[in-house]
Order: sequence, then structure tokens, then C-alpha cells
Amino acid sequence: MKNAELNQRRQDATPRGVGVMCGFYAERAENATLWDVEGKEVIDFASGIAVLNTGHRHPKVIAAIEKQLQAFTHTAYQIVPYESYVSLAERINQRAPIAGPCKTAFFTTGAEAVENAVKIARAYTGRPGLITFGGGFHGRTYMTMALTGKVAPYKLGFGPFPGSVFHGQYPNALYGVTTEDAMNSLDRLFKADIDPKQVAAIVLEPVQGEGGFNVAPAEFMQALRTLCDQHGILLIADEVQTGFARTGKLFAMEHYSVKPDLITMAKSLAGGMPLSAVAGRAEVMDAPAPGGLGGTYAGNPLAVAAAHAVLDVIEEEQLCQRAQRLGQHLVEVLQQARKTSPTIADVRAQGSMVAVEFNDPATGKPSADITRQVQQKAMEEGLLLLSCGVNGNVIRFLYPLTIPDDQFTKAMGILSRALAH
Ligand code: PMP
Repeated sequence: MKNAELNQRRQDATPRGVGVMCGFYAERAENATLWDVEGKEVIDFASGIAVLNTGHRHPKVIAAIEKQLQAFTHTAYQIVPYESYVSLAERINQRAPIAGPCKTAFFTTGAEAVENAVKIARAYTGRPGLITFGGGFHGRTYMTMALTGKVAPYKLGFGPFPGSVFHGQYPNALYGVTTEDAMNSLDRLFKADIDPKQVAAIVLEPVQGEGGFNVAPAEFMQALRTLCDQHGILLIADEVQTGFARTGKLFAMEHYSVKPDLITMAKSLAGGMPLSAVAGRAEVMDAPAPGGLGGTYAGNPLAVAAAHAVLDVIEEEQLCQRAQRLGQHLVEVLQQARKTSPTIADVRAQGSMVAVEFNDPATGKPSADITRQVQQKAMEEGLLLLSCGVNGNVIRFLYPLTIPDDQFTKAMGILSRALAH
């Protein structure tokens, strides 16, 4: 009964605003398996919200952190620098899909990376305006709440938000929003709300994460790049959720023929340690004056050590290829279920960023209820699934890319039964 007791203590000791999804408490974890305080075993398809592409406690990540623990845990990089920060920047600069010379700065959270990308873009362009998209999610700080394109629960009661932020439409085939519609929505912003010459950046997720795993069409990304070039606007790709092999490439922007000016990254960058980064064109990254960027914990040495190991593991275990293979397998399972389940409205994927969307067959409307039932059914058999989507009617799959084949197969069985139910 430890979980029940802990739940009571949690309710008494912590605010309801920190919403908690599961009623059980973690005791330990290994790769794709979690055990709770009552010994219950769970297959983890949440990965701490897309943080564990290399799994819980990957031995190489643990070893790297332990080695760093023996050396030093903190100096504040801006006071006493260390080589591992510089070499991690060098590795990311080599791999990030950025045109020309690239530089990288490290921070701690995803929201902080986005905040800093905005600071850098404004410093470089000397302009205030920011354009993002409906359904987008960029964080819980003030600027990133303003950028986020979903009101409940993220913005409820928290306004006013920073100004000069405008939302366009993100293409969504299922809801009939074409690339042309999306580009027209930006044109309307330029007519009704802001002169394009006052816009510093367009910020988008190449695959919307919290918004429902909506993949940006290639022609949309191209049109955005052209628009940005026409008006001197920077294109910022928020890869906090899509990065580090999840979509079958190290960065999702590698699926496109055009390149962004800045990329934000976090989550799976450091395999469970808090680390984020902004990578971008050197000239743009150098716009803020010395001292303008940083933070006491930004680029923490333990997290940086973990990130080096994560990059090694992604390469050694060919996790990009594995993401493609596992994603294909999962899509087949979902397509098979779709044949007999009238509730499945859509199945979509970019690599292992896979989603299934549920409608109520009686009304044809998005159904958060059916989505919850599938989640609950899977949980009864020990499979932890996350939902997402503006209507809460999408299940997203975020298993560690290192998950053993037999465990993945077992999870597919549980999922099929939950969908059939
Ligand atoms: N951007 C995107 C695309 C995200 O998915 C998230 C987190 N879900 C964030 C930013 C914010 O990251 P963090 O919670 O680490 O601040």
C-alpha cells in the first residue's frame, strides 16, 4: 500500500498545479523497464517525456557520469571552463544541420534553450517579433508560454504574457489544414498584426510533440525558409522533443532539404541528466555580447559527460536505424488494429515518433475518453503510454530506442489487446 500512502502525502505536500499522471511511485529503472515501490513492473513507453532515447541508466551513460563525479561536479562554466563543454559543442556543431560554421551554447532545460534562442535571434536581427504555431509547445516559462499555441492547461491564469508573439496555423492533413492554408495564415499576420520586417524569428517544431505528433510537410518547411529569406527572418527549429535519433535521424531537420538558422535541443541530449542547447549559425550565435548568455548550472559537467556518452551510444548502437525499424513495426501494428477498430482516425509517424489518433465513431469527433481507455487498458497489463494532442485524443509512443526486441514485441501484444478492447 506504499503507493496509496505516497499519494496522500503528495497531495498534502505538493501543489495540484504540478499534475501527476501515474498513481505509482518509481523505485528503480533499467533500459525500458520501471519498477514501482510495490514491486510492480512497467514497460516504459513514456521515457520521461522523450528523454530516454538511450534508455534508463544506459551503462555507458552511468559510467561517464560516475567518472565525472570523481573529478568535479560544478565550477560554473562561465567562471572556470572545462574541456568537455567545448568538445561537446564541437561534436554538435559537426552534426547539427546548420548551413556554414556552427556554434553551440548549453543550458539546462528545454524552455531555457528556447528562451535563449529568442534572445539570440532578437540580438542578431534587432527586431522584436516572433511567430509560432497553434498546437505548438515550447515550455512553461513566460516567453515560452507566450510561444506555446495551447491555452489549457499551460496558460490558464498566468497572463499577461510577453508581447510581439503571433500564432500561425500549422498544417494538419487530418483536419484539412494544407500548407497553403498555413502560409496564408502567416500572410494574414503580416497584414493584420506585424510588419514582416519587425519579425526576428519563426519558431516551429519539425514534428509537433505535445500538439499531437504532427509532421511538418516538406513543402511547408521549404516555404517557411523562402519566406524567412525574403524578409530577413530567422528560422528556429525547436528539436527539444524530436532530437537525438527519435525520428530516425539525429535531428528531425535532416529530413528536410532546407536548414534552420538555430536549433534548440534538450531531453534525450543527456539521457536523463538536465541539459539543453542552442546550436546555430556562428554569426547569429555570436550576436549577444559576452555575459549575455549562460546560467549558473548551464552546461553542468555531469550532464555534459552524460551527453558525450549518449552521442557515442546513438552511433555505436545505430539508434537512428533502430528508430526507423521499430517505428515501422509499430505503424504496422497500428494499421492492423485500424482495420477492425472504427475509433482509430489516423496513424502517423516520422521514424519512432509514432502517434495514433482516436475519434468517437458515433460523432466523428476527437475522443479524449477513448484515448484514456486505451491508456488505462494498456496500463492494466503494465504498459505505460502517453497521450498528447490539442484535443487529448492522441497516443504517442516514446519507448527507449534501446528497448530489447522481445520486450518491444511483448508491448505490441499489450497494445493490440488494448486497442481491440
Ligand atoms: N520544446 C518542446 C518541443 C518540448 O517538447 C518541450 C517539453 N515537452 C519543451 C520545449 C520544454 O522543455 P522543458 O520541459 O525541458 O523546459
